Parts: sequence; structure tokens; C-alpha cells
Amino acid sequence: MSKISFNKSFTQQEAIPEDAIAAAVDVMRAGRLHRYNTAPGATAPTALLESEYAAYQGVDYCLATASGGAAMQIALRAHGVKPGGRVLTNAFTLAPVPGAIAAVGAEPVFVETNAGLTIDLDDLRTKLQSSSASILMLSHMRGHIAPMEDLCELLEAAGATLIEDCAHTMGATWNGRRSGNFGVAACFSTQTYKHMNSGEGGFLTTNDADIMARATILSGSYMLYDRHQARPDMEAYVQAKLEMPNCSSRMDNLRASILRPQLKNLDENVTRWNARYHAMARAVDKAELISIPARSKSEYFVGSSFQFMIPAWPDAKCRQFVARCAERGVELKWFGDPVPAGFTSRYDSWTYAQPQRLDRTIAILGRLMDIRIPLSFSIDDCTLIGTIIAEEIGAMD
Ligand SMILES: *Cc1c(COP(=O)(O)O)cnc(C)c1O
Repeated sequence: MSKISFNKSFTQQEAIPEDAIAAAVDVMRAGRLHRYNTAPGATAPTALLESEYAAYQGVDYCLATASGGAAMQIALRAHGVKPGGRVLTNAFTLAPVPGAIAAVGAEPVFVETNAGLTIDLDDLRTKLQSSSASILMLSHMRGHIAPMEDLCELLEAAGATLIEDCAHTMGATWNGRRSGNFGVAACFSTQTYKHMNSGEGGFLTTNDADIMARATILSGSYMLYDRHQARPDMEAYVQAKLEMPNCSSRMDNLRASILRPQLKNLDENVTRWNARYHAMARAVDKAELISIPARSKSEYFVGSSFQFMIPAWPDAKCRQFVARCAERGVELKWFGDPVPAGFTSRYDSWTYAQPQRLDRTIAILGRLMDIRIPLSFSIDDCTLIGTIIAEEIGAMD
């Protein structure tokens, strides 16, 4: 009996919506692509997008940036992180997160991961005490959200600040509150593989007037910050405009114009992602041996990717399993591979950071499989992918 294969691309995103394409064409016809290049009396699409995203997120201020990584660097610097300073972050995250910490000259201090794939609060408590770091860049990696009330309480007791990396939680909530609204600032990405697609791009959101003023100057506003809308009053800029360097990390009107219509579709797309996630999870769950990270009832997540573990299998078997799934067209990432590949690298391959040992994270990542869920897949596609995964596990058992 020949086995069924899957034959769609795991990196194929949906097309940019027609109204977004039309808006982009308008910007190109006008020739005013730079966010501060506005006709008299006109408001730049970038400024409008910032207001719209601030309203969506339910915050006072929003700054659009060249990337999510740029938003993180700016947030850290605007908060006052200095070269040589230490910043706590998840050991399980992607390279732009420690990269942003390194870009401001600071040292990443990695915190362990638990079986739910969120930051380990016991290890966080220990490292808040031992590291002298007073800031956490919390990465909601692959959309798994830590118990936020407990986490915030812990930080508050230690006098530490939270900045959230919401690259995978744009549109998600915890106990009804939007991911990104728990800390002093939050960073989002609109890079192609995230929840809105402008190729590259990002947002920084906050309710803190000083942080937003400093961030805006850092992003490269020159003295044109009054053209922003989702911004604090002008007094906030008095010091910031002299103290902060211009780090040229602006978003442009072309990207903003294709994001504005996408923002209107975001919540609907979240439900589409989740229908695909649950179809895949249901099919995969038929396999014995498998462990799917539990999700809290408090968490309304965005199922734009799916993770599972096969705790009983050694490395060689995991590697073989990934190869067998690939033969049937199912592209899995295995976080256990000590050799960084594609978009995936592990904390122990970021050798610019001080060497650190995180045995529990290594043990969990060693068994962790990760799969993208682009919206170009149908629900039936996701069931088929899950079925192939379950069959291959069964066949190798
Ligand atoms: C993609 C990503 C970022 C940053 O995104 P860019 O816009 O590509 O700079 C940050 N954190 C995580 C976890 C990501 O996956």
C-alpha cells in the first residue's frame, strides 16, 4: 500500500489582500514612501497604522519600526538598559531576541523552560536574585503564554521590569487581557512568517510616555515626532530628543499601507489559525507516545504553529522520524539538533553570550518537534499532516 504524502509548501503564506495591494499601489503612485514625506495636510499611512494598532492593542502609544528585532532593541534602550547590563530572557526563543540584547551591548541571562514551553518561574526567581538583572525580555515563544499574574508578581517583588516579545502572540490574550499589555512595553513583528505580513516590520507599544518619546527618537524620527499620532504630549520629548541617538529603524508608508487592511482581518485570521491547530492536534494526538504541551484555560493563543514531544525517543530516533516525515512532505523542525539549521538555533549556539548551562531546557528541546501552520493550508490539510505524523510515530514505535 502506498502511503499518502502531503505536497504543499510550509513556507507559502496567503496572498496580500487585494485592498492592501491597492493601498500600496496608491502610495507608490504618490511617490511618498518615507513616513515623514507627507503632502500638506495629509497624515502618513505609517502614523495611521500606529493609531490603529494602538487602538487594537488597547494602549496609549504605538511606534512602527523596521522589524520586530528593531522594536526590541529600541525598547531595551528606551527603558535604560546600558552596555554591560544584564537582561533576563527565555533560553527557548529565536535568535533575534538575544540578538536585540547583544545589539544594545548587554548580556543575555537565559532562564530555563518548562514542559509547557514557557519560562520556568522557579529558575526566574533564582536568577532574579543571582544575576543582578532587573529586566526580563519575555519571549512568548511559539505562542505559549506563561501564567502572567504569577510572573508579574514575581517581577514586582524583585523590583524588576517586564518587556514582552509578542512576535508569536499578536492577537492572543491571557485571562482576557491582550498579550503585550502586562509589561512596561511590548514588541511585535510583521515579518512574513508572523501574524501580519509586510515582509519586514514591527511595533513597539507602551503606556509610558517617556519610553515612547525616547523610542520614537531612537527609531529615527529626526525632529518630526509631532507627525506621530499614537504619541505622548510634546513635553515628553524635551529631554529625549537631545539624549537619544537616531538609529534609523523606521517603518515606511509602503509597508504600513499593506498592514492597515491586514489588521482588520487579524482577529478572524486568529480563529482560522486555531481551527487548523486543533485539527492537527486532534490527528497527532491519536499517536501513543506523544505529548502535546498543555495549554491553560486562561490562554487564548494563536495556533500559527504546533509543537509536540516524543519523550521516550532518543536523538537518533527523533532524527530518523524527522527524515521519514520529510519523505512524506511534512516539514518538522527538531529543536534537539545541536547544529543550528534554517531559522532554528538553540541558546548554546549563541556563543557571543556568556556560556550558560540549562539542563532542563536542553532536555525539553531535545524531544521537541515544531511545525509551521500557514493559513494557505486548509483544515483538511492540517488533519492530513497530523495523520501522517501519527502514522510515522506508530510505524517507528
Ligand atoms: C520573528 C521573531 C522576532 C523578531 O522578528 P523580526 O521582525 O524578524 O526582527 C522576535 N522574537 C521571536 C520569537 C521571533 O520569532
